[in-house]
Amino acid sequence: MKNIVSELEIIRQQNLYRQIRTCTAVDAVHAELEGKQYLLLSANNYLGLTHNAKVQEQAAQAVYDFGTGAGGARLTTGSTPLHDALETALAVFKETEACLLFNTGYMANVGTIAALAGKNDVIFSDELNHASIIDGCRLSRGKTVVYRHCSRAHLAECLQKTPCQGRRLIVTDGVFSMDGDIAPLPDILDLAKRYDALVMVDDAHALGVIGRGGRGTVSYFGLEGQVDIQMGTMSKSLAAEGGYVTGKKELIQYLINRARSFIFSTALSPAVVAAANGALAELVANPELVQTLQSHALLMRQMLGKAGFAISEGVTPIIPVIVGDAQAALSMSQSLKEAGLLISAIRPPTVASGASRLRITVSAAHSREELEQAAQKIINIGRKLQILR
Ligand SMILES: *Cc1c(COP(=O)(O)O)cnc(C)c1O
Repeated sequence: MKNIVSELEIIRQQNLYRQIRTCTAVDAVHAELEGKQYLLLSANNYLGLTHNAKVQEQAAQAVYDFGTGAGGARLTTGSTPLHDALETALAVFKETEACLLFNTGYMANVGTIAALAGKNDVIFSDELNHASIIDGCRLSRGKTVVYRHCSRAHLAECLQKTPCQGRRLIVTDGVFSMDGDIAPLPDILDLAKRYDALVMVDDAHALGVIGRGGRGTVSYFGLEGQVDIQMGTMSKSLAAEGGYVTGKKELIQYLINRARSFIFSTALSPAVVAAANGALAELVANPELVQTLQSHALLMRQMLGKAGFAISEGVTPIIPVIVGDAQAALSMSQSLKEAGLLISAIRPPTVASGASRLRITVSAAHSREELEQAAQKIINIGRKLQILR
């Protein structure tokens, strides 16, 4: 334990120490913490469906119909009609042939990338991709080449320079989780065609957020039918947990047989799958939820931008306010908390050193008034701490 204690001390000295704090959700955008109520501006619950009455009822009913746990892996006895229904609904929504559920988005990325990239294969990965993509690359036996964030020129150079005897796989977040920007998918597809590479897009923050009716990154660019592998999660807009991969039938059959994180893990519990099913049905029936979310994102971006924060242009509900060092991010997060706002400080290793930030996210479930008041508090605190001059 000796080295562990001293390593912990180093983490503390660097202001990088992390702790779990217990929150009690009041509704989709309010939480109680140590007896006080806060406005949540850091959740990924973009459509607020965690507290939708129909979604809650379906989850509760599933417990009575199917029990509390799946009791086995999908390939043994854990697959229920709810799992099949969600896979069908996701494949239809994403306008693809087939879909496979994983227990988390993390496991979907790790299992899929490791299954697709073997010894002679090369993975080309954006430098700001999610940690689960990075870990999938590490777990695969392929070579990984990291290209500069959203850079067509650098991706082209990497493809040209890297010899490959097997398969090439280009993998990217659709909406980047800590920056809220969108991958240049048309450029990536263009290069992929030239080099006969497979393309995989992670839609964790794109489903329910961008594209026609919230169909994600491929739809946002009008590139239907051109991306081989679309991964996403049920843990963000779909108000539950789990991951999925959609694509051609053969891809899904291959993953069922080769993705170890799918094969060797107990199926998602019926209540979770029913919640995701219910949330997807709500999204399909109420596409205006996506418009509300986008107008909230625009409102927050405009208010903070006008006050002088360096807010990059964009449409997504992920709005980073870069403050630089980890201590500054922590102080700002603490002051915001004292003002009743829960906004996480994001520090290394989640983001690069010197790029610590507050990651503000908005939800369709916020009211405009709440967002306006919150923006004013963020601006006042930014001025007081001289992050905003
Ligand atoms: C959240 C996230 C994941 C992991 O999904 P979980 O369901 O939370 O495991 C994967 N990729 C990206 C881009 C994410 O933001």
